[in-house]
Amino acid sequence: MNGRQCPGTCNAAHRRNGAGTLISGDPVWCRRCQALIRARLLDLDDQAALLAALEGGHRARSGERVSGSRGRPSPAPHVDDLDELLHTLLGWEDAYREHRGLAPRPRRGRFAPTLAGNIAWLAAHLDGLLSFDGAADFGREVLRLHRRLVRHTRGGRSSGRVRMPCPGCDLRSLERDEAGEGIRCRNRRCGRTYTSEEYESRMRGAEGGEAR
Ligand SMILES: [Zn+2]
Ligand SMILES: [Zn+2]
Repeated sequence: MNGRQCPGTCNAAHRRNGAGTLISGDPVWCRRCQALIRARLLDLDDQAALLAALEGGHRARSGERVSGSRGRPSPAPHVDDLDELLHTLLGWEDAYREHRGLAPRPRRGRFAPTLAGNIAWLAAHLDGLLSFDGAADFGREVLRLHRRLVRHTRGGRSSGRVRMPCPGCDLRSLERDEAGEGIRCRNRRCGRTYTSEEYESRMRGAEGGEAR
């Protein structure tokens, strides 16, 4: 059927000149949105690691919730976000394995290896995931989960954020201090600080390394 529209935001911006319009046989998402979803999906792993580091780590999920049995609110909102992230993505892996008649998902261990393995599997099957029956919902969920995690990892101070990963812990957890004189790592387990001069020389070193 002609005239189907990509479910992505590309429609709203470019509807008039026809971008995002799909013709028969095309996948559900247009090329531009496919690339965006791939990038967001792969970044979810880093964002989850950063959020866990900023908030003090992910509690191992057990059969019962620490907070639920006592009727208190969740001890840390990020735990719920990370749980939701993992369960949503695992749900998509399970759904797509069933759709394709593939073997059941293997056990991968604790939170971090399970999430990493799950995201790698989804990325390896992304072309199929973006064109099967659940493709519109899958893509929307990846984008929504990413928006949500990024909102937390930015901590509302996006202007002070620094792009380069912390040389100490390799997370994108650096920000400028309030005075703008130095850089500090927001990961509590790392907590390194750098003067502006140290940071700039590290940046030059990193760029030189890439050029070689
Ligand atoms: Zn699109
Ligand atoms: Zn660090």
